[in-house]
Amino acid sequence: MELAIRTAMLKLGGRLLEDLLGLDGGHRGPRTGCPNGHDAEFISYRAKTIDTVVGPVRLRRAWYHCAACGHGLAPRDAELGTERSSLSPGLRKMIARAAATVPFARAAGLLAELAGIELTVKRTERSAEADGAAAARAISAEADAIRSRRVVPLPPAEPRPDKLYLAVDGTGIPVVAREAEGRRGKADDGKARTREIKLACLFTQTSLDDDGKPARDPSSTTCLATFEPAGQFGVLLDAEARRRGIEHIRQPVILGDGAAWIWNLADKHFPAATQIVDLYHAREHLHDLANLAARLLAGHRDDWLATRLAELDAGDVDAVLAAGRDLNFTGSLAGERDKALAYFEHNAHRMRYQHFKSLGMFVGSGVVEAGCKSIGQRLKLSGMRWALAGATGIATLRCLDAGHRWDEIWQRPRSQTAPADLVSLAS
Ligand SMILES: [Zn+2]
Repeated sequence: MELAIRTAMLKLGGRLLEDLLGLDGGHRGPRTGCPNGHDAEFISYRAKTIDTVVGPVRLRRAWYHCAACGHGLAPRDAELGTERSSLSPGLRKMIARAAATVPFARAAGLLAELAGIELTVKRTERSAEADGAAAARAISAEADAIRSRRVVPLPPAEPRPDKLYLAVDGTGIPVVAREAEGRRGKADDGKARTREIKLACLFTQTSLDDDGKPARDPSSTTCLATFEPAGQFGVLLDAEARRRGIEHIRQPVILGDGAAWIWNLADKHFPAATQIVDLYHAREHLHDLANLAARLLAGHRDDWLATRLAELDAGDVDAVLAAGRDLNFTGSLAGERDKALAYFEHNAHRMRYQHFKSLGMFVGSGVVEAGCKSIGQRLKLSGMRWALAGATGIATLRCLDAGHRWDEIWQRPRSQTAPADLVSLAS
């Protein structure tokens, strides 16, 4: 019964939309300008079916041909935002939101179940990846505009946040063979199967909670994701930090896992920021060291680890190093111990956890990093091997979702074509 009503409603909506769209056949005189500035001549009216959130809609619109370019065009398609797609902008946004969250097959299933829209998995994937790629280009263009000061972001709203955190991480995403060609990897044959996606979560913190722990400002998280090398990632992150008002915030903080590229980038773009090795990552390294020493420590392993973790939490890296050097390894294990300890040596000044805590700072990104991780997980858990373009598109959609930036970004890639009626009628 319910299904019957819904189907009838959708049909009615579709017919209504068809009628409304039919009021303007898109005839713009005998000639109209082509995108390259030539004169395109009117040929005839042609039909096109567009899938919308109320189902398929048949559209008759004027068709022009540009002799110079050898291309046809319909001005109406550009106005409606459907010139490169047979899906309405409203439906594409729905697809993008679903595909940002779950694998493509499930996204297509959800749209069928919740909205009664039947799309193939391939079409769902293509649409979401293309719109995600367009959003990534818009973000990149925005970054250029901010860095060249063509766009000056507004300062954050009053009361100004006190601290801006930039939690930075990198993780391997499984890619198709051609995307990893010629790269060295960890697999037995030495070939790479993954490419690193670099992620950043930015959030602000102003106050402490009732227990005296730092509290993240609500809805203050935005994310960034790219497969670009560290240099370009730094440029994008710099722009995002400026967009978030870093120039107006007293204390910037970089949280990272200890990877050298993160600190190089921090030194270059954010020299005033406090650098902190994420406590959870530092703890993982202690667990690794304890495992390495498991045989040597025998029954004392757990006690040894608990004491080292307490020293680390207190920011006493000297004590951790002294205990580590006391581990009486021989041969290759001694080398591994030294390598493990080098991590603490090099990063000691980024592990003054007691000091950072006394300043009311987060020392582990915790929840936020989980948000950051969820971007990587969407790409890792689907069992897919990705092409970089598609993975970039989906990661970007995931970032829009995490940062509640859908509407802000969504309109921009095709803002010049102003798909007003389809968006308002069908979104
Ligand atoms: Zn032309």
